[in-house]
Amino acid sequence: MISISSNKPVNKTDKAMNTFERLESRVRGYCRSFPTVFTRGEGSVLYDESGERYLDFLSGAGSLNYGHNDPALRQSLLDYVEGNGILHGLDMATEAKREFLETFERIILKPRGMHYKVQFTGPTGTNAVEAALKLARRVTGRTNIVSFTNAFHGVTLGSLAVTGNVHYRHAAGVPLGNATFMPYDGYLGPHVSTIDYLEQCLNDRSSGLEMPAAVIVETVQGEGGLHTAGVAWLKHLQRLCTDQGVLLIVDDIQAGCGRTGTFFSFESAGIRPDFVTLSKSLSGYGLPMSVLLMKPEYDAWEPGEHNGTFRGNNLAFVTATAALRHYWSSNDFQLDIKHKAALLRGRLLSMAGPPAGAGLRGRGLIQGLVCEPASAAAEICRASFERGLIIETSGAESEVVKCLPPLNIPDGELWAGLDLLESAVKEIRGRSRETLVQAVGAEK
Ligand code: PLP
Repeated sequence: MISISSNKPVNKTDKAMNTFERLESRVRGYCRSFPTVFTRGEGSVLYDESGERYLDFLSGAGSLNYGHNDPALRQSLLDYVEGNGILHGLDMATEAKREFLETFERIILKPRGMHYKVQFTGPTGTNAVEAALKLARRVTGRTNIVSFTNAFHGVTLGSLAVTGNVHYRHAAGVPLGNATFMPYDGYLGPHVSTIDYLEQCLNDRSSGLEMPAAVIVETVQGEGGLHTAGVAWLKHLQRLCTDQGVLLIVDDIQAGCGRTGTFFSFESAGIRPDFVTLSKSLSGYGLPMSVLLMKPEYDAWEPGEHNGTFRGNNLAFVTATAALRHYWSSNDFQLDIKHKAALLRGRLLSMAGPPAGAGLRGRGLIQGLVCEPASAAAEICRASFERGLIIETSGAESEVVKCLPPLNIPDGELWAGLDLLESAVKEIRGRSRETLVQAVGAEK
């Protein structure tokens, strides 16, 4: 989540940012948090126009799981462009699309025993969510969708209706309806089973919950504060949906493509959602591409019903195919993600203690420090940027410092980035101690 509080330029770059302030809409976000002009990216490193080097723990909000300009992916792209490959083909059949579909089936779906059809939606994640919601309503004939507290599914009207955050909802300009929010796993504290509550509501015809077409869930709430759904909770949710004839949609746009240690974030729970949305790192190279995976029996579309001019980003198909071949043909990559995730967890735990690390949230290579007070998170991100680390906040109050490094970041760079983060945490901790001491002094 963009830390809105970070409007204040960090230093030096007021002049460099002038053009953007003058000509670009106020809606711009990340360039406020990182006010410098970037020119180059290599792996986990970004360079700005004055030659300064930054470690990237934001990874295009999860769109660059293989870092910037991965050489294997880049070569496939260059070869394709050199050979005058089709760049734009609406949703026509192209060789690049066929290669992607066959590779996805062979490397991802088949080994996991998954049978899904693939819908190429418009290129943004929100469009895949829109398609999932429309299709679920079409298939069931119902309109309501159950979503969860702190969910983030996008900012177009359908996906916004199932997004919790008031900052985004306010911008809709129309009432957002046909959605019911239920408490996510852990929302009511460790001793209350929120899934039992959902079950009770679905079973009680007087609960006031309109029988939903679908439940949409993130296994890790990427924008909503890195809350995680436990394995037992997800299994229970799947059982509940099956029993009630409600479709289960897993939005794996941020947590998927390896971020949690397996290709799909729900693999450890052993569930089989009816629909899965994927986007962000699917193309592997930061190129826009989104898909909706659906169990074949739910493919109820009429031809062209959910269309869009940019459903066939062939460059993205090429790099997506290369990414699957390069990183997912064996188990080595997954093992390496798990190793890095343990390293990350260890370092974050060692930073724990107020104001950062009042707790840790997340899993895999999407983990973060929960700050108390919440405002300390943005301060830590700002202090990190001054040290050459790009890192953002997440959560309803932007209370989490979210670590989202590339999955293939070398251990040394991961360690170096965490050193920068730790130093920033120490600075903010020191400052808040000073404030505390001053406040105590003032009270006397
Ligand atoms: N769903 C999830 C889980 C996301 O994290 C996001 C974006 O952060 C979206 C949907 C929306 O994707 P996009 O910003 O590409 O529309």
